[in-house]
Amino acid sequence: MIPALMQPLLDEGFQRASFSLWLVPIVLLLLFGIRGFCGYLAEVALAKVANNGMLALRRKSFDRLLDADMALFSRQSASALSNTVVYEVQTGATQLVNALLGMARDTLTLIALVGYLIYLNWKLTLIVALLFPSVTFVMRTLSRRLYRIAKASQDATDNLAYVVEENVLAHRMVRLHAAQSAQSQRFFDLSHKLRGLTMKSIMASAAMTPLTQMLAAAALSGVICIALVQSSGSNVSVGSFVSFITAMLMLLAPIKHLANVASPITRSMAALERALDLIDATPKESSGGYQPERADSDTPRGRIVLNDVTVQYQAETAPALDRFSLDIAPGEIVALVGASGSGKTTLVNLLPRFVLPNTGQVLLDGHDLADWQLGALRGQFAMVSQDVVMLNDTLAANVCLGMPRDDTRVWACLEAANLATHVRDLPLGVDTPVGHNAAQLSGGQRQRLAIARALYKDAPILILDEATSALDTESERLVQEALQRLMVGRTTLVIAHRLSTIEHADRVVVMERGRIVEQGSHDALMRLNGTYARLQYLGGGELREAVA
Ligand code: ADP
Ligand code: MG
Repeated sequence: MIPALMQPLLDEGFQRASFSLWLVPIVLLLLFGIRGFCGYLAEVALAKVANNGMLALRRKSFDRLLDADMALFSRQSASALSNTVVYEVQTGATQLVNALLGMARDTLTLIALVGYLIYLNWKLTLIVALLFPSVTFVMRTLSRRLYRIAKASQDATDNLAYVVEENVLAHRMVRLHAAQSAQSQRFFDLSHKLRGLTMKSIMASAAMTPLTQMLAAAALSGVICIALVQSSGSNVSVGSFVSFITAMLMLLAPIKHLANVASPITRSMAALERALDLIDATPKESSGGYQPERADSDTPRGRIVLNDVTVQYQAETAPALDRFSLDIAPGEIVALVGASGSGKTTLVNLLPRFVLPNTGQVLLDGHDLADWQLGALRGQFAMVSQDVVMLNDTLAANVCLGMPRDDTRVWACLEAANLATHVRDLPLGVDTPVGHNAAQLSGGQRQRLAIARALYKDAPILILDEATSALDTESERLVQEALQRLMVGRTTLVIAHRLSTIEHADRVVVMERGRIVEQGSHDALMRLNGTYARLQYLGGGELREAVA
């Protein structure tokens, strides 16, 4: 409501300059429109830059996970690695961009103000200039502290995530053994530590502003004192003095803002450093260049030779394989037998280079494994082990993992693996999702799914590491049949406790403490009446562990 008194005034004004007045709201809208639009563009463009950077960094760090030297996985936990790739990259990119945006604006203001101060009185400005080294000093000292805290917080966050990871995996065991309160305490202790670090970090970054402002106040006081001394005899006008002080006071806001970005910048640096470390400081798996010619069906492949191979996981422990030598002919089926811890798994892990020998040589088809191109080498092996690992995807996707999907072949493999009957009963058939690590399948079904996968890969060498040890008799019979089909025409290394598996082998290698103690056919070893015969006798058809 416009007061009645003003009405005539307004009327008069409008009559006099109605045209030009109408321009005001238009110009106003236009200016705000342009300003808003530019601000919008700037924000979107910056977010785009940040997110593109984040995307590239994430992709690179994940790709490094896929080709990293496997020592990485014994050094870092799954939760620490997922923190790096998922969370730290995000925090780093976002905080850094926001901080840089603020910094660009404030730096410009700062430069303009300092220019103005120099123009007003360059001598007095010199005193103001003293402010910068001291502010820098404060910022650097606090930043170093913030960086250390940020690193410690990262570790604490990893540990916290690790406890969650473990408790999710072991949720049944924790409940069964009533270990909840201990786990809760463990989680609380770590959270408590993280809280302490966060408080320390906030204390350091909160000290930044008052400290820089104290320094600014000191500079301001200095200027005023000097100006007062000068004013008695010199030509400093009151006007220029007031301008100078005003400009100095205006400096405080951008300095404060700059001090405030130190904390997010440090935090984002620590975060990005972690991702970059993963990319740059993690070595790739080493690979040679040898690739076999296109498979020629006449030339048998899969000759494996081990020459004096020693594998020692830790310097202070006994070697898992001790100057071990073995020669396996193409197409031969070799059963590895021995007490738990005798080095059987280590031996088969050598072949796809999951474990590297400390000394000695492993040859496949006459070429040292180190000379093989890694992809080509691993293409030679299909593996079924006791702890089956499945991806949370459909049955079909798990069967043809890493290869193009061909439904007729998937069914043929499921058929050969004695799993087709079960899959046919499922409403979604081969498109049934299997859940996290195929939790929706029974142990025997999981094992047979792994066999179907090995069949689908159709590799020349087959590795079976206790593939039947966890099964009941009925599943074992089904798995056994499936394995028998799988072994046809392939060089096979089979680690087993069951006589039914070992009997089919061309040769049985008996191991003890990383060495071969006996080898030969089942019958020959029985006649020998040595370690193998003793194992058989004690086990009653099953080679029981730890009886040697
Ligand atoms: P097997 O399969 O015959 O039971 P392994 O090859 O698994 O035996 O283990 C042989 C020895 O090497 C054992 O003493 C075991 O403790 C040790 N070992 C196996 N894997 C590792 C590892 N990743 N780190 C350290 N030691 C290991
Ligand atoms: Mg083993």
